[in-house]
Amino acid sequence: MSMKDKIQEKFQTLFGDGGEVFASAGRINLIGEHTDYNGGYVFPGAIDKGIMARIKPNGTGKVRAFSLDYDEYCEFGLCEEDKPDQAWARYIFGVCRETAKRGGKVEGFDTVFAGDVPLGAGLSSSAALESTFAYALNCLFNNNIDKFELARIGQSTEHNYCGVMCGIMDQFASIFGKAGSLIRLNCKTMEYKYFPFDPKGYKLVLIDSCVKHELASSAYNKRRASCENAAAAIRKNHPDVECLSDAKRVWLDEVREEIPEEDFLRAEYVIGEVQRVLDVCDALERGDYETVGEMMYQTHFGLSRLYEVSCDELDFLVKLARRCDVTGSRVMGGGFGGCTINLVKDELYDNFTDTAVKEFTAKFGHAPKLYDVVISDGARKVE
Ligand code: ADP
Ligand code: MG
Repeated sequence: MSMKDKIQEKFQTLFGDGGEVFASAGRINLIGEHTDYNGGYVFPGAIDKGIMARIKPNGTGKVRAFSLDYDEYCEFGLCEEDKPDQAWARYIFGVCRETAKRGGKVEGFDTVFAGDVPLGAGLSSSAALESTFAYALNCLFNNNIDKFELARIGQSTEHNYCGVMCGIMDQFASIFGKAGSLIRLNCKTMEYKYFPFDPKGYKLVLIDSCVKHELASSAYNKRRASCENAAAAIRKNHPDVECLSDAKRVWLDEVREEIPEEDFLRAEYVIGEVQRVLDVCDALERGDYETVGEMMYQTHFGLSRLYEVSCDELDFLVKLARRCDVTGSRVMGGGFGGCTINLVKDELYDNFTDTAVKEFTAKFGHAPKLYDVVISDGARKVE
Protein backbone atom coordinates (compact mmCIF):
# COMPACT_ATOMS: atom_id res chain seq x y z
CA MET A 1 0.00 0.00 0.00
CA SER A 2 1.30 3.48 -0.83
CA MET A 3 2.04 5.99 1.91
CA LYS A 4 -0.88 8.05 0.68
CA ASP A 5 -3.26 5.06 0.97
CA LYS A 6 -2.05 4.18 4.46
CA ILE A 7 -2.64 7.76 5.55
CA GLN A 8 -6.05 7.75 3.95
CA GLU A 9 -7.05 4.49 5.65
CA LYS A 10 -5.99 5.67 9.11
CA PHE A 11 -7.59 9.06 8.62
CA GLN A 12 -10.86 7.38 7.68
CA THR A 13 -10.74 5.21 10.81
CA LEU A 14 -9.90 8.05 13.20
CA PHE A 15 -11.65 11.05 11.71
CA GLY A 16 -13.93 9.91 8.89
CA ASP A 17 -14.18 11.41 5.42
CA GLY A 18 -12.62 14.43 3.87
CA GLY A 19 -9.44 16.35 4.29
CA GLU A 20 -6.84 17.41 1.79
CA VAL A 21 -3.39 15.98 1.25
CA PHE A 22 -0.19 18.04 1.45
CA ALA A 23 3.44 17.05 1.22
CA SER A 24 6.92 18.40 1.43
CA ALA A 25 10.43 17.08 1.09
CA GLY A 26 13.79 16.54 2.70
CA ARG A 27 16.78 18.08 0.98
CA ILE A 28 20.35 17.64 -0.17
CA ASN A 29 22.95 20.35 -0.61
CA LEU A 30 25.04 19.69 -3.72
CA ILE A 31 27.80 22.13 -2.87
CA GLY A 32 28.29 25.21 -0.68
CA GLU A 33 29.21 23.92 2.78
CA HIS A 34 30.01 26.12 5.81
CA THR A 35 29.26 29.10 3.57
CA ASP A 36 25.92 30.09 5.11
CA TYR A 37 27.29 31.83 8.21
CA ASN A 38 29.91 33.50 6.02
CA GLY A 39 27.26 35.14 3.86
CA GLY A 40 28.04 32.89 0.90
CA TYR A 41 26.00 30.57 -1.30
CA VAL A 42 24.37 27.27 -0.58
CA PHE A 43 22.99 25.10 -3.36
CA PRO A 44 20.26 22.79 -2.10
CA GLY A 45 17.39 20.92 -3.71
CA ALA A 46 14.33 19.04 -2.45
CA ILE A 47 14.40 15.24 -2.75
CA ASP A 48 11.99 12.41 -3.46
CA LYS A 49 11.70 11.61 0.23
CA GLY A 50 9.42 13.64 2.40
CA ILE A 51 6.43 13.94 4.66
CA MET A 52 2.80 13.58 3.61
CA ALA A 53 -0.24 14.60 5.65
CA ARG A 54 -3.98 14.46 5.27
CA ILE A 55 -5.46 17.44 7.07
CA LYS A 56 -8.99 18.65 7.74
CA PRO A 57 -10.11 21.62 9.84
CA ASN A 58 -12.33 20.28 12.64
CA GLY A 59 -14.07 23.44 13.78
CA THR A 60 -12.63 23.25 17.32
CA GLY A 61 -9.67 24.89 19.03
CA LYS A 62 -7.81 21.59 19.12
CA VAL A 63 -5.38 19.76 16.90
CA ARG A 64 -5.78 16.01 16.79
CA ALA A 65 -2.73 14.45 15.18
CA PHE A 66 -1.68 10.89 14.47
CA SER A 67 1.87 9.94 13.48
CA LEU A 68 1.78 6.72 11.46
CA ASP A 69 5.51 6.14 11.79
CA TYR A 70 5.51 6.44 15.57
CA ASP A 71 2.02 4.91 15.81
CA GLU A 72 1.15 7.64 18.29
CA TYR A 73 -1.73 10.01 18.79
CA CYS A 74 -1.48 13.49 20.25
CA GLU A 75 -4.06 16.16 20.98
CA PHE A 76 -3.19 19.74 21.82
CA GLY A 77 -4.66 23.24 21.97
CA LEU A 78 -3.35 26.23 20.08
CA CYS A 79 -2.21 28.50 22.90
CA GLU A 80 1.40 28.88 23.99
CA GLU A 81 0.84 26.85 27.17
CA ASP A 82 -0.53 23.88 25.21
CA LYS A 83 2.90 22.70 24.05
CA PRO A 84 2.69 18.91 23.68
CA ASP A 85 5.15 16.43 25.20
CA GLN A 86 5.88 14.31 22.14
CA ALA A 87 8.83 15.64 20.16
CA TRP A 88 7.17 15.02 16.79
CA ALA A 89 4.04 16.91 17.84
CA ARG A 90 6.09 19.94 18.85
CA TYR A 91 7.02 20.51 15.23
CA ILE A 92 3.36 20.75 14.30
CA PHE A 93 2.50 22.80 17.37
CA GLY A 94 5.43 25.15 16.65
CA VAL A 95 4.27 25.69 13.09
CA CYS A 96 0.77 26.56 14.36
CA ARG A 97 2.20 29.03 16.88
CA GLU A 98 4.63 30.63 14.47
CA THR A 99 1.87 31.02 11.88
CA ALA A 100 -0.34 32.69 14.48
CA LYS A 101 2.52 34.97 15.58
CA ARG A 102 2.69 36.24 12.00
CA GLY A 103 -0.99 37.13 12.06
CA GLY A 104 -2.11 34.00 10.26
CA LYS A 105 -5.38 32.32 11.15
CA VAL A 106 -5.01 28.84 12.62
CA GLU A 107 -7.91 26.80 13.93
CA GLY A 108 -8.15 23.21 15.06
CA PHE A 109 -7.62 20.40 12.59
CA ASP A 110 -7.38 16.64 12.36
CA THR A 111 -4.36 15.07 10.69
CA VAL A 112 -2.67 11.79 9.95
CA PHE A 113 0.84 11.96 8.56
CA ALA A 114 3.80 9.80 7.61
CA GLY A 115 7.19 10.15 5.98
CA ASP A 116 10.16 8.44 4.43
CA VAL A 117 13.04 10.82 5.14
CA PRO A 118 15.53 8.91 7.29
CA LEU A 119 15.65 10.66 10.67
CA GLY A 120 18.82 12.43 11.68
CA ALA A 121 20.72 11.36 8.56
CA GLY A 122 21.34 14.92 7.40
CA LEU A 123 18.41 15.04 4.97
CA SER A 124 16.32 17.25 7.21
CA SER A 125 13.24 15.23 7.99
CA SER A 126 12.32 17.96 10.48
CA ALA A 127 12.22 20.64 7.78
CA ALA A 128 10.04 18.35 5.66
CA LEU A 129 7.63 18.03 8.56
CA GLU A 130 7.53 21.76 9.30
CA SER A 131 7.20 22.73 5.66
CA THR A 132 4.33 20.31 5.07
CA PHE A 133 2.30 21.88 7.85
CA ALA A 134 3.39 25.49 7.22
CA TYR A 135 2.35 25.15 3.59
CA ALA A 136 -0.87 23.29 4.42
CA LEU A 137 -2.10 25.71 7.09
CA ASN A 138 -1.41 28.60 4.74
CA CYS A 139 -3.65 27.01 2.11
CA LEU A 140 -6.37 25.68 4.41
CA PHE A 141 -6.86 28.95 6.29
CA ASN A 142 -6.20 31.26 3.30
CA ASN A 143 -3.44 33.16 5.03
CA ASN A 144 -1.50 34.33 1.98
CA ILE A 145 1.81 34.20 3.79
CA ASP A 146 4.64 34.37 1.24
CA LYS A 147 6.95 31.43 0.68
CA PHE A 148 9.98 32.95 2.37
CA GLU A 149 7.93 33.55 5.49
CA LEU A 150 6.69 29.95 5.36
CA ALA A 151 10.32 28.84 5.44
CA ARG A 152 10.93 31.16 8.38
CA ILE A 153 7.96 29.63 10.20
CA GLY A 154 9.76 26.29 10.01
CA GLN A 155 13.08 27.79 11.09
CA SER A 156 11.49 29.61 14.05
CA THR A 157 9.74 26.39 15.02
CA GLU A 158 13.15 24.73 15.35
CA HIS A 159 14.50 27.69 17.34
CA ASN A 160 11.57 28.29 19.65
CA TYR A 161 9.96 24.87 20.09
CA CYS A 162 12.61 22.25 19.32
CA GLY A 163 15.84 23.81 20.62
CA VAL A 164 17.70 23.63 17.30
CA MET A 165 19.39 26.89 16.25
CA CYS A 166 19.42 26.13 12.53
CA GLY A 167 19.89 28.40 9.53
CA ILE A 168 17.28 28.84 6.81
CA MET A 169 18.60 26.48 4.13
CA ASP A 170 16.67 23.33 5.00
CA GLN A 171 13.27 24.98 5.21
CA PHE A 172 14.05 27.14 2.20
CA ALA A 173 14.84 24.07 0.09
CA SER A 174 11.83 22.20 1.38
CA ILE A 175 9.44 25.06 0.57
CA PHE A 176 10.99 26.28 -2.70
CA GLY A 177 12.24 22.97 -4.13
CA LYS A 178 11.28 21.98 -7.68
CA ALA A 179 11.79 18.75 -9.59
CA GLY A 180 14.82 18.96 -11.86
CA SER A 181 16.20 22.12 -10.22
CA LEU A 182 18.66 23.08 -7.55
CA ILE A 183 18.41 26.52 -5.95
CA ARG A 184 21.37 28.76 -5.36
CA LEU A 185 20.65 30.84 -2.29
CA ASN A 186 22.76 33.84 -1.34
CA CYS A 187 22.75 33.66 2.45
CA LYS A 188 23.60 37.35 2.80
CA THR A 189 21.00 38.91 0.49
CA MET A 190 18.54 35.96 0.40
CA GLU A 191 18.45 36.26 -3.40
CA TYR A 192 17.96 32.91 -5.06
CA LYS A 193 18.05 31.42 -8.51
CA TYR A 194 17.03 28.05 -9.92
CA PHE A 195 19.50 26.02 -11.99
CA PRO A 196 18.68 22.90 -14.01
CA PHE A 197 19.76 19.68 -12.38
CA ASP A 198 18.70 16.67 -14.40
CA PRO A 199 21.74 14.43 -14.65
CA LYS A 200 20.62 11.86 -17.22
CA GLY A 201 22.86 8.81 -17.05
CA TYR A 202 23.91 9.58 -13.46
CA LYS A 203 22.51 8.83 -10.06
CA LEU A 204 22.80 10.74 -6.81
CA VAL A 205 23.42 8.44 -3.87
CA LEU A 206 24.14 9.27 -0.27
CA ILE A 207 26.26 6.98 1.84
CA ASP A 208 25.55 7.36 5.52
CA SER A 209 28.61 6.57 7.62
CA CYS A 210 26.26 6.23 10.62
CA VAL A 211 28.83 7.94 12.83
CA LYS A 212 28.63 11.27 14.58
CA HIS A 213 31.83 12.39 16.28
CA GLU A 214 31.26 14.54 19.28
CA LEU A 215 33.54 17.46 18.41
CA ALA A 216 30.90 18.98 16.19
CA SER A 217 29.56 21.92 18.20
CA SER A 218 32.80 23.20 19.78
CA ALA A 219 34.60 22.80 16.45
CA TYR A 220 31.80 24.70 14.74
CA ASN A 221 32.18 27.66 17.07
CA LYS A 222 35.94 27.69 16.54
CA ARG A 223 35.51 27.64 12.76
CA ARG A 224 33.10 30.57 12.94
CA ALA A 225 35.52 32.57 15.06
CA SER A 226 38.38 31.89 12.61
CA CYS A 227 36.26 33.08 9.70
CA GLU A 228 35.27 36.26 11.52
CA ASN A 229 38.87 36.90 12.45
CA ALA A 230 40.03 36.53 8.85
CA ALA A 231 37.22 38.74 7.59
CA ALA A 232 38.08 41.44 10.14
CA ALA A 233 41.73 41.46 9.02
CA ILE A 234 40.73 41.75 5.36
CA ARG A 235 38.23 44.48 6.20
CA LYS A 236 41.03 46.78 7.36
CA ASN A 237 42.27 46.93 3.77
CA HIS A 238 38.90 46.53 2.08
CA PRO A 239 36.19 48.20 4.13
CA ASP A 240 33.37 46.85 1.94
CA VAL A 241 33.99 43.31 3.10
CA GLU A 242 31.04 42.65 5.39
CA CYS A 243 31.58 38.92 5.60
CA LEU A 244 34.19 36.48 4.45
CA SER A 245 32.35 35.56 1.27
CA ASP A 246 32.79 39.14 0.02
CA ALA A 247 36.56 38.73 0.02
CA LYS A 248 38.74 37.93 -2.98
CA ARG A 249 41.41 35.29 -2.63
CA VAL A 250 44.22 37.84 -3.21
CA TRP A 251 42.85 39.95 -0.35
CA LEU A 252 43.28 36.99 1.94
CA ASP A 253 46.89 36.59 0.82
CA GLU A 254 47.52 40.22 1.82
CA VAL A 255 46.80 39.42 5.47
CA ARG A 256 48.44 36.01 5.64
CA GLU A 257 51.17 37.17 8.03
CA GLU A 258 48.69 38.98 10.29
CA ILE A 259 46.41 36.09 11.19
CA PRO A 260 47.07 32.63 12.61
CA GLU A 261 47.81 30.04 9.93
CA GLU A 262 44.75 28.10 11.04
CA ASP A 263 42.45 31.06 10.38
CA PHE A 264 44.10 31.51 7.00
CA LEU A 265 43.36 27.90 6.02
CA ARG A 266 39.73 28.13 7.16
CA ALA A 267 39.26 31.32 5.14
CA GLU A 268 41.02 29.82 2.14
CA TYR A 269 38.44 27.04 2.15
CA VAL A 270 35.45 29.38 2.45
CA ILE A 271 36.56 31.75 -0.31
CA GLY A 272 37.29 28.76 -2.55
CA GLU A 273 33.92 27.23 -1.78
CA VAL A 274 31.99 30.36 -2.72
CA GLN A 275 33.74 30.31 -6.10
CA ARG A 276 33.08 26.60 -6.54
CA VAL A 277 29.34 27.12 -6.16
CA LEU A 278 29.47 29.66 -8.98
CA ASP A 279 31.57 27.30 -11.11
CA VAL A 280 29.09 24.48 -10.53
CA CYS A 281 26.21 26.73 -11.60
CA ASP A 282 28.05 27.58 -14.83
CA ALA A 283 28.76 23.92 -15.43
CA LEU A 284 25.11 22.99 -14.89
CA GLU A 285 23.99 25.54 -17.46
CA ARG A 286 26.22 23.69 -19.94
CA GLY A 287 25.03 20.28 -18.68
CA ASP A 288 28.65 19.51 -17.75
CA TYR A 289 28.28 17.06 -14.87
CA GLU A 290 31.91 15.98 -14.97
CA THR A 291 32.99 19.48 -13.87
CA VAL A 292 30.27 19.44 -11.20
CA GLY A 293 31.75 16.21 -9.87
CA GLU A 294 35.29 17.53 -9.88
CA MET A 295 34.17 20.52 -7.81
CA MET A 296 32.55 18.15 -5.31
CA TYR A 297 35.90 16.41 -4.83
CA GLN A 298 37.60 19.76 -4.41
CA THR A 299 35.08 20.72 -1.76
CA HIS A 300 35.80 17.51 0.09
CA PHE A 301 39.53 18.15 -0.07
CA GLY A 302 38.93 21.64 1.38
CA LEU A 303 36.63 20.40 4.13
CA SER A 304 39.08 17.67 5.05
CA ARG A 305 42.45 19.45 4.80
CA LEU A 306 41.75 23.17 5.15
CA TYR A 307 38.56 23.39 7.18
CA GLU A 308 39.29 20.12 8.99
CA VAL A 309 35.74 18.96 9.60
CA SER A 310 36.01 15.51 8.05
CA CYS A 311 36.84 12.22 9.77
CA ASP A 312 38.35 8.84 8.85
CA GLU A 313 35.04 7.29 7.85
CA LEU A 314 34.18 10.11 5.44
CA ASP A 315 37.65 10.40 3.95
CA PHE A 316 37.60 6.66 3.42
CA LEU A 317 34.29 6.84 1.52
CA VAL A 318 35.42 9.71 -0.70
CA LYS A 319 38.73 8.02 -1.50
CA LEU A 320 36.87 4.83 -2.34
CA ALA A 321 34.54 6.81 -4.59
CA ARG A 322 37.52 8.21 -6.49
CA ARG A 323 38.91 4.72 -6.93
CA CYS A 324 35.55 3.48 -8.29
CA ASP A 325 35.53 6.31 -10.89
CA VAL A 326 32.60 8.05 -9.25
CA THR A 327 32.12 11.47 -10.87
CA GLY A 328 31.87 13.48 -7.65
CA SER A 329 31.90 12.77 -3.92
CA ARG A 330 32.12 14.82 -0.75
CA VAL A 331 30.91 14.99 2.80
CA MET A 332 27.53 16.72 3.03
CA GLY A 333 26.54 18.84 6.03
CA GLY A 334 28.56 20.14 8.95
CA GLY A 335 31.03 17.25 9.04
CA PHE A 336 32.52 14.91 11.68
CA GLY A 337 30.16 12.21 10.44
CA GLY A 338 26.92 11.85 8.54
CA CYS A 339 26.72 11.22 4.81
CA THR A 340 28.76 11.60 1.70
CA ILE A 341 26.89 12.73 -1.40
CA ASN A 342 27.94 11.01 -4.60
CA LEU A 343 27.26 11.69 -8.27
CA VAL A 344 27.84 8.42 -10.08
CA LYS A 345 27.31 7.14 -13.62
CA ASP A 346 24.49 4.61 -13.88
CA GLU A 347 26.79 1.83 -15.10
CA LEU A 348 29.20 2.32 -12.18
CA TYR A 349 26.54 2.51 -9.49
CA ASP A 350 26.34 -1.21 -8.56
CA ASN A 351 30.07 -1.69 -8.32
CA PHE A 352 30.51 1.49 -6.30
CA THR A 353 27.79 0.84 -3.76
CA ASP A 354 28.70 -2.86 -3.36
CA THR A 355 32.36 -2.00 -2.87
CA ALA A 356 31.56 0.82 -0.45
CA VAL A 357 29.37 -1.37 1.74
CA LYS A 358 31.83 -4.27 1.73
CA GLU A 359 35.01 -2.30 2.38
CA PHE A 360 33.50 0.20 4.83
CA THR A 361 32.02 -2.62 6.89
CA ALA A 362 35.28 -4.52 6.91
CA LYS A 363 37.20 -1.46 8.08
CA PHE A 364 34.82 0.16 10.54
CA GLY A 365 32.83 -2.81 11.81
CA HIS A 366 29.38 -1.57 10.85
CA ALA A 367 27.58 -1.19 7.54
CA PRO A 368 26.91 2.24 6.03
CA LYS A 369 23.40 3.02 4.76
CA LEU A 370 22.58 3.97 1.19
CA TYR A 371 19.97 6.50 0.12
CA ASP A 372 19.23 7.10 -3.56
CA VAL A 373 17.82 10.56 -4.13
CA VAL A 374 16.18 12.33 -7.06
CA ILE A 375 15.70 16.10 -7.07
CA SER A 376 11.96 16.60 -6.72
CA ASP A 377 9.20 19.02 -5.77
CA GLY A 378 9.09 20.62 -2.33
CA ALA A 379 5.98 21.77 -0.45
CA ARG A 380 2.77 21.18 -2.39
CA LYS A 381 -0.84 20.10 -2.34
CA VAL A 382 -1.24 16.51 -3.53
CA GLU A 383 -4.19 16.01 -5.86
P1 ADP B 1 16.84 15.58 10.69
O1 ADP B 1 18.30 15.80 10.47
O2 ADP B 1 16.35 14.37 9.93
O3 ADP B 1 16.03 16.80 10.46
P2 ADP B 1 16.06 16.06 13.39
O4 ADP B 1 16.53 15.48 14.65
O5 ADP B 1 16.24 17.50 13.15
O6 ADP B 1 16.72 15.18 12.23
O7 ADP B 1 14.50 15.78 13.22
C1 ADP B 1 13.99 14.51 13.45
C2 ADP B 1 12.68 14.62 14.23
O8 ADP B 1 11.65 15.13 13.36
C3 ADP B 1 12.19 13.30 14.73
O9 ADP B 1 12.77 12.98 15.97
C4 ADP B 1 10.69 13.55 14.82
O10 ADP B 1 10.37 14.24 16.00
C5 ADP B 1 10.43 14.45 13.64
N1 ADP B 1 10.08 13.64 12.44
C6 ADP B 1 10.77 13.52 11.30
N2 ADP B 1 10.18 12.66 10.44
C7 ADP B 1 9.07 12.23 11.08
C8 ADP B 1 8.03 11.30 10.73
N3 ADP B 1 8.04 10.62 9.56
N4 ADP B 1 7.05 11.11 11.63
C9 ADP B 1 7.04 11.75 12.80
N5 ADP B 1 7.99 12.63 13.18
C10 ADP B 1 9.00 12.86 12.34
MG1 MG C 1 16.43 18.62 11.50
